[in-house]
Parts: sequence; C-alpha cells; structure tokens
Amino acid sequence: MRPPLPLVTRTSLLLLLLCNLEFASSFFATPLDHRMAPRRAVVRLRAEINPGAVSGTSLRILEYPHPALRAPNADVDAFDDELRQLAKEMVSIMYASGGCGLAAPQVGVNRRLMVFNPTGDPSKWMQEYVMCNARIIQYADARSVGEEGCLSFPGFTADVARSNWIKIEYTNVRGKKQRKKLKGFDAIVFQHEYDHLDGVLYVDHLSEDERNRVQADIDALTGRYTETSAGPAAL
Ligand SMILES: [Zn+2]
Repeated sequence: MRPPLPLVTRTSLLLLLLCNLEFASSFFATPLDHRMAPRRAVVRLRAEINPGAVSGTSLRILEYPHPALRAPNADVDAFDDELRQLAKEMVSIMYASGGCGLAAPQVGVNRRLMVFNPTGDPSKWMQEYVMCNARIIQYADARSVGEEGCLSFPGFTADVARSNWIKIEYTNVRGKKQRKKLKGFDAIVFQHEYDHLDGVLYVDHLSEDERNRVQADIDALTGRYTETSAGPAAL
C-alpha cells in the first residue's frame, strides 16, 4: 500500500472518482489502467495488479518499456467475430487487473482499439465501452490535474492535466459510427487510453517535478525489462 497522499486543494473531480478510490477509511475502490484521486483527502490507492494469466485469454498486460507500447497502431478495419473476441478478452483482463480501461497495444495488439468502464465494476456492464478508431473532435480548454496510474507502469502514480470534457467519434464493434461527449472521469479515462493508441504514455505528460519524483520507478521498470527481455528496451 502507498502511504497517504498529501492534502491538496483540488475539487473538480471528487464526484467523478467514485469508482477509483479506496479512501483510507470509507470511500471508494480503485480501478483503472489509470488511477486517479482528488488530492484533498487522505487517500490510499489500492495496490495495482498485473493479473498475469487470465482465464479465457492468452493475452497479457505488457509493461513499460515494451516496444509495443510505442509502436504504431493500425485502424481497425474488420468488425467481425475476431474483433469482438479480442475486445471481450481485453475487458476480462481489465476487470482482472482491477482497472477501468485498457488499450490494445497494452496487450501487444497494435490496433486502434480500447475498452473501458469508468466504474471498473463488471456488474455495471452497461457502462462498458468498446471503441475502435476513436478520434477526438473537440477538447475543452479547461483542464484539471488528477492522479493517474497505468497498468503498464505498475507501482506508482503521478499527476497529469487533462481536458475536462471532450467530444469524440468512434466505431463500435458492430461497425457503427458513434459520437459522444465525455466529461469528468470518463473523459480522463478516454484521454489516457487514446494516448496509448498514439504511442503516448501518461508519463510523457508529467511536469518536471512529477517526472523527477517518479524517475526512479521508471528506471526500475526499464531495468527489470532489460533483465528479462532478449531485446533492447524501447525508450
Ligand atoms: Zn495506461
């Protein structure tokens, strides 16, 4: 468990984080590919989980600096059973990890596919999203800073600024185009996952102070990867 986070007066996302926080006393429970927390209470984030092998799928969550996290991602062009099976397996891994979202490159599939459920709760399947070839049409100018984590960066979290709302369009797994406005926590999860599809990782957005704070954690991941991989680290 991480130690309690410092008190900071940020109010904007409190109501949006019901799914993602495990407050030291009685608040909510964490999940996300990305975890975030309002820095205004004594908050403790639940330990991150890389579930490793998950029943029903051979996919695994890849950790930084695996090259798949930086590789180009191709548009989804076949809205078939294979795509739906892939999405289903990604959703399973997301829930098994205690996460709220997962992008295909995080499981080594370099396609523009993401899944998320802002509640992180498998029983709330009505709030699951599976999005193909999503793009952001419009960003809010207003941005808020929140604490995020990423299953590809286990063991630490850091503050990132994101737009408060976005307008997006995407294609669902049946090949139907959709438009949607996402705000608050939903928008944050989407922006984090969307970044993955462009090979952008949340640590790319950190302020100099935040980067310095977590650099040792990033270096440790890099060291672990190079020790266990035959290939060079992709930095
Ligand atoms: Zn992530």
